[in-house]
Amino acid sequence: MGGVVVIGAGVGGCYTAFRLAVGSREVTLYASGHRVGGRIWSVPVRGGGWAELGAMRLNTEAAPVMALLKHLGLAGALVPFSFGRPENVVRTRGVLLRQRDFAHPTRIPYRLGKRERGSNADELTLLAVESVVPGFGRLREEYHRAVREGRDADAASVRARYRSAHGAALVQGEPLVEVSWPRVLASALSPEALRLVADTDGYDLHPGGAAAWIDVLFRTPPRARYVTLSCGMEALPRALHTRFEEAGGRTRRGRRLCRIDRAGGTGGTYELTFAVEDQAGRDTGRRERVRARTVVLALPQGALRRIETGPGVFGPSWAEDLEAVEPVRAAKLFLAYDEPWWRACGLRAGRSTTDLGLRQVWYEPGGASRLLLAAYPTGPSASLWDRFGTGPALGEPASGAMFDGGPPATAAAVAHAHRLLCRMHGVQAPPPVAACWQDWGRHPHSGAWHVWRTGRDTERVAARMRAPSPGGSLHVVSDCWTEDPGSVPGALGCAEQVLQAHLGLSPPPWSS
Ligand SMILES: Cc1cc2nc3c(=O)[nH]c(=O)nc-3n(C[C@H](O)[C@H](O)[C@H](O)COP(=O)(O)OP(=O)(O)OC[C@H]3O[C@@H](n4cnc5c(N)ncnc54)[C@H](O)[C@@H]3O)c2cc1C
Repeated sequence: MGGVVVIGAGVGGCYTAFRLAVGSREVTLYASGHRVGGRIWSVPVRGGGWAELGAMRLNTEAAPVMALLKHLGLAGALVPFSFGRPENVVRTRGVLLRQRDFAHPTRIPYRLGKRERGSNADELTLLAVESVVPGFGRLREEYHRAVREGRDADAASVRARYRSAHGAALVQGEPLVEVSWPRVLASALSPEALRLVADTDGYDLHPGGAAAWIDVLFRTPPRARYVTLSCGMEALPRALHTRFEEAGGRTRRGRRLCRIDRAGGTGGTYELTFAVEDQAGRDTGRRERVRARTVVLALPQGALRRIETGPGVFGPSWAEDLEAVEPVRAAKLFLAYDEPWWRACGLRAGRSTTDLGLRQVWYEPGGASRLLLAAYPTGPSASLWDRFGTGPALGEPASGAMFDGGPPATAAAVAHAHRLLCRMHGVQAPPPVAACWQDWGRHPHSGAWHVWRTGRDTERVAARMRAPSPGGSLHVVSDCWTEDPGSVPGALGCAEQVLQAHLGLSPPPWSS
């Protein structure tokens, strides 16, 4: 009862548990399922490399994460992560372009306005933001230069100037905070430019709030350098979990929190009810009850929604705050081939985009030379794959052997994806030999990541979510309600805020 109970063994829960245990607290980590890592899931590929079913890259400017990786002895495993490349494909409106073709407006099958011509999806997006928050591009450049050079006071001053421009921004007379992201794009771009962004950005336009999304763009460095872990991204939560147990922490796997009550109806103690799961993650019907004074719910929105609560657990704004963010669906389909046929098209790394249902194609991701991240649909595009949801999987048990422990894809989904890949690249490639499919919109998940809805005071909601239980020590650690939703830095940043502001920990020694 005197210790801390942390629920959820994703990177946020593992980090919180590790920090508390190293700080000599008695901690028990409860994990539904039997895998550590949550939305970081690295499936080993036979012959080397990883299929990253969840998070796959980190931005090197995320200093706390880089410092943590160094502290954990993982910095040596960081390798460059390739993103856009001039030779990569943009296949849209039936035309096969290379990214470098955007410099030649006549090749682009969209009737763009004069100031839009020559711009790709990223550049058009920035054009739209600039028209709403004048000076955005310059301020972003200045801010990130100051961050890179360690000039903290300058960075804070540029950020304040940006905040003031952002606070004053109006879209067709309405404050930015009340306007959705698609509306900002529609207000600033011609219909054809908007279509180009929607078709070729790779990610479906999300319906979230413009103000919070422009903040995310501001915090993303202009020419971001991305890295990944050559030993798989899951090495991060695993290393945290190992250190947690080495520091005396205890893990209870196969325990899904299903109910929270205020014990005895009063005081600062919680009674937690767990459903006991079997190895396959099925509810055995057994229930386990635990009492704790300090509880950390390291869970995303969907998981929190599913927990029943007794009276007085959460304050009056809980229900509204919980719904302040909106889940974004995403799925990943990996295909393995006997030969990397895409190399003959001059493609070896990074991503291509398309208006076809694949949306994004990544070449040889995770260091696996015969692998494609063949489809990465998000939002409404992910739903287009629902029709392939059931049926026989491709080549089992071969697919199981190629992707060690990865969820299989149905043969129909694989055949469809392969057809689209051939169309996209203008080739007749031999069929794939194995496949792996993960849909983060399906049970037990409710979304891959989240975006803030319009009209929310993000800072106030985030602060309330970190301490949502009046008079008690119950906290939410999650990337969902942060300034970096949908990211590992968001989850870790939120954990640090809870640890320092509510659980009495000092900043970690490796961060100085
Ligand atoms: C497809 C995809 C791509 C992404 N790409 C990137 C990227 O490139 N870079 C990046 O930084 N971020 C990326 N992200 C986001 C990143 O993965 C998340 O922000 C981060 O992993 C969130 O960690 P978390 O611990 O907060 O939550 P989660 O990882 O969701 O962990 C929650 C844990 O709680 C468990 N759980 C759920 N319900 C219960 C319950 N009732 N009781 C007990 N346990 C429970 C879950 O099983 C899970 O283990 C991506 C995510 C996805 C899905």
